[in-house]
Amino acid sequence: MRIYISADIEGVTGVSTWEETLKGNAEYDRCREQMTREVAAACEGALAAGADYIIVKDAHEDGKNLIHSMLPEQVKIISGWSNHPYNMVEGLDESFDGVMLIGYHSGGSSNGSPLAHTLSINSIRNITINGKKADEFLIYAYAAHRLKVPVIMVTGDGELIRHVRAFDPAIKTVAVQEGFGGAIVSIHPNVAAARIKKAAKRAVENIVSFTTSQLDTYELKVEFKKHQDAYKYSFYPKAEQIGEYTIRYVSNNYMDLLTLLMFM
Ligand SMILES: [Zn+2]
Repeated sequence: MRIYISADIEGVTGVSTWEETLKGNAEYDRCREQMTREVAAACEGALAAGADYIIVKDAHEDGKNLIHSMLPEQVKIISGWSNHPYNMVEGLDESFDGVMLIGYHSGGSSNGSPLAHTLSINSIRNITINGKKADEFLIYAYAAHRLKVPVIMVTGDGELIRHVRAFDPAIKTVAVQEGFGGAIVSIHPNVAAARIKKAAKRAVENIVSFTTSQLDTYELKVEFKKHQDAYKYSFYPKAEQIGEYTIRYVSNNYMDLLTLLMFM
């Protein structure tokens, strides 16, 4: 069984400030280590359930956060960015049996995390796809489903996990922190790792039961923080400006949406 893991840091146990997510800050090393522990736990669970190939995309900032030597020896890492439209799940293809998203977080305009955002922190206020709030989980779940690969497990903040469960209750989840205003309450880092290992094992053991879905048409709406950006993207082929801060883009090929998002 081939498992693809995409890892972010904002939804890792104990992470609640931008400083903790950026290199050069005192608390960053602790956070990248916990990010790595949570990915390692997912890998261990997957291996225990019979996975024989695991590749991990380091999907935060420069894509060079995970400490490879802390992961099981069978695990490969994609670090840096190829600039493929698959972005946080680049390198994923039809050959994989399941996707796990570790350390993911609530999307823009959500109060589920002090670090809630979708893709660009500076320019995007929020994104919807077919009227549904689209966080990074949803954006890349549709990307995986396009390849007929199911998302089998997600970890992150509580609000994200509620969104994941509403999307597909079959997905195994672990909420490692709960945001309230500018604060979070986190479970203990050891408990997070133990729960993630257990959930990953269950996800891979039940991998045949997961399903994927595709929509006939994808309607993307992006609300920007600056009206200048909505004006600019209104010139992207087939995009239209539908409000002072918002553009709309429709395609029956989800790859077109991923390509537009890559240029933002
Ligand atoms: Zn991130």
